[in-house]
Amino acid sequence: MPEPIALSRITSHLEDFDGAFLQCTDCQAVHRIMQADRALLYTKDGAEVQVDDMRRFLGAHRDHRFQVLRRSSDAETLSHARWDPMCRVVWEVSDGETDYVVSFGRTEVESPREYTIVPGRMRVVKETIEIDGDVLARVIDEALFPFVAPESKVAGVVQRCRDLVAGCAADELDPIDELREDPNVQLACLPARVAGELRRDLEQTFADSRTRDGFDAIADDLQVQIPIVRLARRYRIDRFV
Ligand SMILES: [Zn+2]
Repeated sequence: MPEPIALSRITSHLEDFDGAFLQCTDCQAVHRIMQADRALLYTKDGAEVQVDDMRRFLGAHRDHRFQVLRRSSDAETLSHARWDPMCRVVWEVSDGETDYVVSFGRTEVESPREYTIVPGRMRVVKETIEIDGDVLARVIDEALFPFVAPESKVAGVVQRCRDLVAGCAADELDPIDELREDPNVQLACLPARVAGELRRDLEQTFADSRTRDGFDAIADDLQVQIPIVRLARRYRIDRFV
């Protein structure tokens, strides 16, 4: 285990530790340092309200020693939408030597976050990479208008895009959002390589449409603006014994 860090070093350089986790090495309790949790609220009569999770944690472990854990991978499981105050998050963190799985969230909106931590890793047990074919078909129809693309040809392009994306590695994707109905499905735009191949396919398939600008618009939009790729990963927690 790395050397514990003195509390004074952490509290005097809090900005360096924003987002990191403090683990008390005496009683294993964990707290994530977050700027947002340090804002104090004041009631109408000016009284300070103790909403500062950090102060509460440091008060409870005043004479103990701490180690700093940082997020060590992009593995993540969410219980609710990320913006939801009740969202419980599961991440991998590390002290530089040992990996841990930390889970944190609130049981009530106004209660402090609660944490659990176990030595272990999050293993991907299922990964799917798909596209939203309906959205792709609509993007093609709109971009080629007033040319009317035959439905069977659009379906052919959608299928070829589906095949291209199925051959992508997850690390080619750069997720920008999560699916509203399932926060564990990430949304991403097409990788540049796939957008380029799709553009060539569109040009061949709809050679009679004379809408070169339309092909460019489709490839550009799908590469930077319209996230048609859905990346879903399910994890298992492997605890170290
Ligand atoms: Zn402690």
